[in-house]
Amino acid sequence: MSGKGLILMNENDYLKQVATLTGLQHYPSQGPWGRKSGSVIGSRDGYVTAIGFYRSREAKIVILLRFKKQEHPELVKAAVLQSEAVGKKHGKLAEVGNDFLRWEWKYSFAKPKAEEVARLADALRESIKQAAPGFDGRCEHCTSASTPALTLMNGTPVYICAGCQEKVHHELDQAAINYDAIVPNYPNGLLLGIGAALLGGIAWGLVAYGIHRIFLYGAILIGYLVSIAVIKGTQKVTRFGQLIIPVLTVASVLFGDAIFYALEVMKSEGIPFSGKLLKAIVVNLWEIERESSGILSLVFALVGAGYALYAARKPQFKAAFQPLGAPNP
Ligand SMILES: [Zn+2]
Repeated sequence: MSGKGLILMNENDYLKQVATLTGLQHYPSQGPWGRKSGSVIGSRDGYVTAIGFYRSREAKIVILLRFKKQEHPELVKAAVLQSEAVGKKHGKLAEVGNDFLRWEWKYSFAKPKAEEVARLADALRESIKQAAPGFDGRCEHCTSASTPALTLMNGTPVYICAGCQEKVHHELDQAAINYDAIVPNYPNGLLLGIGAALLGGIAWGLVAYGIHRIFLYGAILIGYLVSIAVIKGTQKVTRFGQLIIPVLTVASVLFGDAIFYALEVMKSEGIPFSGKLLKAIVVNLWEIERESSGILSLVFALVGAGYALYAARKPQFKAAFQPLGAPNP
């Protein structure tokens, strides 16, 4: 296959080719990454491999390798990093958990050669054989029931018996019930949220003064900080929290701007900090913001609040089990 052919090849055909080369199977629309092209999935020597495309900001080919649960996943990491067969120019080890590793290979325009992806998947599996055992045909949850076939659990290929699937459903139902039963502590949420907004605002003001510019990540960071604080305080995600998180985030950034302007005035006028000065600035904040780049910080604050709200979604207590090769519901 020529380079040009690879560029033009669509994800489906590409994964079919990877499947042929690895001896695994291609399952369109299935697998962990939720793309139409699906994943190449299968088991070899007890190790489960899933290969597929993932697009966030960048295009990537991802290789997921699963093994029997390990007490010391750092040994798996060391084994992969020490392996000479695992090409270090072909992407990087993105994450190692106690029963999986994820390798990511970023590319910009031309997809990597399918042969190289297949070779890499084989090399990864070989590299961890000393460090982590593979599965042995039994359910990985109860480690007793014979479970020869893979099942997709929220897209991830696992060995789980029918009994344990029932149990997972039951436990998640119970977790959802328990979550609903939590009585939210609103005053505490408000208090922690205000505390986080104050801290975030001070940090924003000092950083803006120090580097003479404001930046988007600061606002997002404040949004996160506030949402974590509010949820920690109320102990669950509530409408109340979803309402005050963006309000406090915007307030925090505006407060930070006020500190920034106060510091600037102190410096240019050579006057000491005082409550009076801060008050004068807060009272005239809107005027000042309009004349400087204040609108921009407001926009940043809103983006930060948006991120915060997204981060503060209610947890999902759901597990979907799907046999491999079954059409999507
Ligand atoms: Zn089981």
